[in-house]
Amino acid sequence: MLRDMAERIYKTFLPLLDRCLIGERIGMPVGAYNEKRGQYRADVVLEHLQNSVRASPREKVLAVTDCDLYAPGLNFVFGQAQCPGSFALVSLHRLNPIFYGGSQDYELLIERGAKEATHELGHSLGLRHCPDNKCVMSFSNSIVNVDEKGPSFCETCRRRLGI
Ligand SMILES: [Zn+2]
Ligand SMILES: [Zn+2]
Repeated sequence: MLRDMAERIYKTFLPLLDRCLIGERIGMPVGAYNEKRGQYRADVVLEHLQNSVRASPREKVLAVTDCDLYAPGLNFVFGQAQCPGSFALVSLHRLNPIFYGGSQDYELLIERGAKEATHELGHSLGLRHCPDNKCVMSFSNSIVNVDEKGPSFCETCRRRLGI
């Protein structure tokens, strides 16, 4: 699954990326878990990631989890990233059609996962939310928003990235 996601992300970011490696599994930090909510706090997970993985200024580290994430003031988040920074995080939990009572759909899950991963990596490269609702950098409040936006950057965002 990670390989399939990586392949899509790699193509989207060309020629910014020269390679895409899949790293080791990292455990979720116990302190990030909120028992009442049954969710992990995204910023605490991101901080744990930063403390666990060494990254050079030229590298981006994207963590993929199937745990449900939240941020204070929000019921859930699909992901979070340093903007700009080296670390980004995405959750597949609410991207999975099964979460919404649907049937298993690997292609759809990968498509959604690659979109949200691209979005968070966009933040790590300094991009803010984009008003173009077809652009991958538009803010997604729900799975409907995720499915409505495209897998890649609009012209304005591309220009900002220099691709
Ligand atoms: Zn965002
Ligand atoms: Zn855009």
